[in-house]
Amino acid sequence: MSPAGRFAPSPSADLHIGNVRTAVLAWLFARSSRRRFLMRVEDLDDRSSHDVAARQLRDLAAVGLDWDADPEYQTAHRDRYDAVIADLVDRGLTYECFCSRRDIAQAPRAPHAPEGAYPGTCRDLTAAQRAERRAEGRPPALRLRSQTTEFTVTDLLHGTYTGVVDDMVLRRGDGVPAYNLAVVVDDAAAGVDQVVRGDDLLPSSPRQAYLGSLLGHPQPVYAHVPLVLNAEGRRLAKRDGAVTVGEIGAPRAMAQIAASLGFSATTPEGMLAEFDPARLPRAPWTFVPR
Ligand code: GLU
Repeated sequence: MSPAGRFAPSPSADLHIGNVRTAVLAWLFARSSRRRFLMRVEDLDDRSSHDVAARQLRDLAAVGLDWDADPEYQTAHRDRYDAVIADLVDRGLTYECFCSRRDIAQAPRAPHAPEGAYPGTCRDLTAAQRAERRAEGRPPALRLRSQTTEFTVTDLLHGTYTGVVDDMVLRRGDGVPAYNLAVVVDDAAAGVDQVVRGDDLLPSSPRQAYLGSLLGHPQPVYAHVPLVLNAEGRRLAKRDGAVTVGEIGAPRAMAQIAASLGFSATTPEGMLAEFDPARLPRAPWTFVPR
């Protein structure tokens, strides 16, 4: 399969200009390295909406992006995730977890345990303890029995980055495959070897790369790009005003994105001719809607 980059929106809200800027960068990284560019709708979460997904794809097309295959929808990949989970179960690399969020927040933590890592409460339950918890009625989540506590990735913008790997959830208690699992499985299945996305996801990349290594996948090339902030320095959000392509208009949105990246061209093709990853701004862009 020929190598590919991708953009993977979650269809829970319309894309704002920051999301579109990330999509443009993902397209530029893929096209400038002669990769295919793919679109994947991450609709496993029940906040996902078909209408929102359709508007996201329409907005991305409106700013001039194109992709090389029909968009994939994660909800169509349940068999694929189930097969991978079954393989990890067979290899003894999983365990059932009965913890609620509250249990996890309140669990005692080893002195140097990293923030946000699962404390391992259910890792060594006996069969009898599991049966007891199951009888209480809470359907268990399935976690990875991780063999490490950290993993290192290489990122085109951040260099070498080492981050936490914990016993991440593979399948939630409600049966929905977890984000980290779905991303890794889908990227590998589609031949994605370049992952360009917002740098809020940089801390997830060691977990994902580690899971990928257990599944025999080479580490993708990562580029975690700066987010777009509002006037208060917080992550841009819908409530900040006119921030979507629909509200700003595609040509104006692209003019602003181009200016923020130092391009004189305002079309994707024009930007491609000027694109130099080494010269990308490293700082977040502050966007003030007018
Ligand atoms: N669906 C995720 C988001 O919209 C992105 C996942 C990814 O690019 O790996 O934040």
